[in-house]
Amino acid sequence: MEKKQNDFLVEVKDLKMHFPVKTGWFSSKPLKAVDGVSFEIKPGETLGLVGESGCGKTTVGRALLRLYKPTSGEFRFNGELVNDQSIRHLRKEMQMVFQDPYSSLNPRMTVEDIIGEPLDVHKLYTTRADRREKILSLMETVGLNAEHATRYAHEFSGGQRQRIGIARALAVDPKFIVCDEAVSALDVSIQAQVINMFEELQEKLGVAYLFIAHDLSIVKYISDKVGVMYSGKLVEFAKSADLYKNPLHPYSQALISAIPSTDIDSPMSARRIHIHGEISSAINPPQGCRFYKRCPKAFEKCKSIPPELIETEEGHFTACHLINPLL
Ligand code: SF4
Repeated sequence: MEKKQNDFLVEVKDLKMHFPVKTGWFSSKPLKAVDGVSFEIKPGETLGLVGESGCGKTTVGRALLRLYKPTSGEFRFNGELVNDQSIRHLRKEMQMVFQDPYSSLNPRMTVEDIIGEPLDVHKLYTTRADRREKILSLMETVGLNAEHATRYAHEFSGGQRQRIGIARALAVDPKFIVCDEAVSALDVSIQAQVINMFEELQEKLGVAYLFIAHDLSIVKYISDKVGVMYSGKLVEFAKSADLYKNPLHPYSQALISAIPSTDIDSPMSARRIHIHGEISSAINPPQGCRFYKRCPKAFEKCKSIPPELIETEEGHFTACHLINPLL
């Protein structure tokens, strides 16, 4: 087992996830859903990963949990290289909470059995009484009552179903949870409750999150760091407070300007930046900056030369020729 010691729980280096797409009878081209993404997450930390639909953020989460086999790149979990072999014992440490609490829970199973299934799979109890005690404790942790145990998922509201999904993920005592648009399908008032619960669980259990969302306002409060993705690439990565106060990439600036703000001192609150058109094709990405066709600040160099992600301030990385004019 190849293992190295360091501060990070999650280390992703140059992750690529390309899917072959048929372009003719005998030909195909790669759809570059994720095209060279790197980041780290410390134990107990939250990385928010944002970008509009089709930018590759969900694919990153799925590739980490090996629901997709990455095309290339390296993923280390707690120092250990994750591959087809190691994922078998690491799967318990890494869990996922899905976007749609309506379809991700089996409608024929009671809440007790939904939460108990991972306990069964990993043989994490000694007696039936022990199993039930663990399930009730998990239900209490996520704010569900004991009398909910014998009911079915369809009898619950969206927020409660998401709590069931979270209890199920917590059953195996993971160190890392990928939350894939985990609150996006919920009403705004319920979103806040579920996000608060994620934060409380993190404080109590020390779990790290990759919090994937299309909306920057959702990840604003829960994230320690935020990565902004565009067309398969990270275009900006910074501490959450830095990114919201001083977004450097034109795409991040547009996303942040779209957040309704009550803070009149916020530099982005005064003007809404509109971007038009659709995200560039992941099959035929532009030769230069992938944001070129939609960028309000694009200039000639952007068309042909792809900008590199470089550290512009401490811990603040940006991929834009405006920020790195000499590169
Ligand atoms: Fe816009 Fe050019 Fe910066 Fe890309 S490199 S974000 S096109 S200014």
